[in-house]
Amino acid sequence: MTIKTKKTVLITGGAGFIGSYLCELLLDKGFKVICMDNLITGSLSNISHLLKRSNFEFIEHDVSKFIGIQERVHYILHFASPASPVDYLKFPIQTLKVGSLGTHNVLGVAKANKAKFILASTSEVYGDPLIHPQPETYWGNVNPVGPRGVYDEAKRFAEAITMAYHRVHKIDTKIVRIFNTYGPKMRKDDGRAIPNFISQAIKNSPITIYGEGLQTRSFCYITDLVSGIYKLMLTKIHDPVNLGNPKEMTILELAKEVIRLTKSKSKIVHKALPQDDPKTRQPDIARAKRLLNWKPNVSLRSGLLQAIKSFKKEGLR
Ligand code: UDP
Repeated sequence: MTIKTKKTVLITGGAGFIGSYLCELLLDKGFKVICMDNLITGSLSNISHLLKRSNFEFIEHDVSKFIGIQERVHYILHFASPASPVDYLKFPIQTLKVGSLGTHNVLGVAKANKAKFILASTSEVYGDPLIHPQPETYWGNVNPVGPRGVYDEAKRFAEAITMAYHRVHKIDTKIVRIFNTYGPKMRKDDGRAIPNFISQAIKNSPITIYGEGLQTRSFCYITDLVSGIYKLMLTKIHDPVNLGNPKEMTILELAKEVIRLTKSKSKIVHKALPQDDPKTRQPDIARAKRLLNWKPNVSLRSGLLQAIKSFKKEGLR
């Protein structure tokens, strides 16, 4: 669906991996897009192709500090936060601040503008899950004082304050719980499994598997994810919705698939498993299917091939 009257959307974290795809999608749908990012993990290179578009504006700002927006905004997509384990371990306090103070500030902008608000939450709210696959009704198994707690608890707080603003101030809020997502434009050094494995495989250097590699994840291609977020944005659903690809595999299987698709000579090496690394993860997407009529379409093979192609191209620059 294309929006006829021009509405303005504020995307925090708009220069990040997922945020930059949302900026482009919403510009294409006819929105005016204000992209806000402090660039600690996001990058201008993700949005440089959008800067010349007349309905696009970039504001470098840390949303954990007061946000002064002069014009009326109709939608807010709050995607600002470090999101890779390596990044949130490097920026633990910024991660806690953006999830708490940042979400409070952005909800304040939503309230002042009577804007619809979409929070980027995460499968990490389920922690190291004891229920499998994870439905939205599961409350999670999170270690608040472990190294990952800075992200998990920040996002759990962000969900709680979002629901409080919905209940108290009647803000039209939505919460998307995003499971592992990948694709072109991921930072090669963001430390996550797919960018690490692709970069290592292209260079024929060792593929680093943390632990035995028997922990599982389920990987969703970026365009599938953003189409689900757009559908959610246009609904009246206030309860959290999982978005992700339910096809689950071990990290070892993922590494082998990357080696196959890159025709790499890389060998697998094992490194220490990070503390509190979830043993399993698979989204239950029944709610998204039922309420959004959404399901992912891109296979792992075809998504990985796209990512590999773009990583190779960027490596040549
Ligand atoms: N992982 C790995 N080698 C790497 C990077 C990650 O074995 O070079 C593992 C990591 O320990 C985790 C899984 O791959 O079990 C997914 O990690 P990622 O950082 O992509 O995201 P997470 O799902 O943990 O947030």
